[in-house]
Amino acid sequence: MKTLLNNNELNEALYGVSNLGFVPTMGSLHKGHISLIKRSLKECSKTIVSIFVNPKQFNNKKDFINYPKNTKKDLSILKDLEVNFVYLPNKNDIYNSKRKTKIKLYKHDKVLCAKYRKGHFEGVIDVMGRLIKIIKPKKVFMGEKDFQQLYLVKKYIKKNKSIIVPCKTIRDINKLALSSRNLLLKKKELNIAGKLIKNLISFKKKLNKDRNIKKALSKKRKEIDKLYKVKIEYLELRSIKNLKVSDKIKNSKIFISYYINKVRLIDNI
Ligand code: AMP
Repeated sequence: MKTLLNNNELNEALYGVSNLGFVPTMGSLHKGHISLIKRSLKECSKTIVSIFVNPKQFNNKKDFINYPKNTKKDLSILKDLEVNFVYLPNKNDIYNSKRKTKIKLYKHDKVLCAKYRKGHFEGVIDVMGRLIKIIKPKKVFMGEKDFQQLYLVKKYIKKNKSIIVPCKTIRDINKLALSSRNLLLKKKELNIAGKLIKNLISFKKKLNKDRNIKKALSKKRKEIDKLYKVKIEYLELRSIKNLKVSDKIKNSKIFISYYINKVRLIDNI
């Protein structure tokens, strides 16, 4: 495994490499990231994983500072997986070139996390555009865990020859989606989050029979508030095709964002 610490090292290492798979991450790797990496190793001749905690996508400075960092452990995981390259850029490697167009979300895309984390997706789309331009991979592997991110990256990165490959959400045995942010939770909080998600999974199964989905969702929101004492930011059923509010279960997902203590978690079911 080659560790690439700047763009010169990256350009030299990637010279002549084709059929390259790319897995962008912010580190603190878990089985969710590993599933993306394994898929890339299977589908592509070479795989590059980036670890970059992108300051521009954090709308809250404290959240950026507290974001878990475990580079040493990450490198050992990547080595064991026999990843070809790991890219550990610093801010200048990513942001030294100016972008011609400023990223602006359409009004109808300012929903779910875009409504509550101002500037977050503009930061994500910007960094993803830059990473893809620097690395020029054939395929980019991204998780459905961050469904809106996947949707917006596909939609807004236009001059992109790389194929974006959506990958299934990996869950813990208690059904909680794996996330680096789970490291910030205490055992008791992890249990609560798991119970909440299990509750939503069985709710979605039954929702099929419910004729008034809006009412059922509002009732469920109140119930979750009461049962788990978490702060729900949104709980909505939306189309997976265009993220519009949906009243049909077919081709839709339940999207949730909630706080346990000060930790913000998202999921889609
Ligand atoms: P992050 O390091 O959180 O920015 O995530 C890097 C990539 O891993 C993104 O494409 C995420 O959607 C994906 N990812 C994170 N958690 C999971 C999970 N539990 N299952 C599948 N993919 C995930």
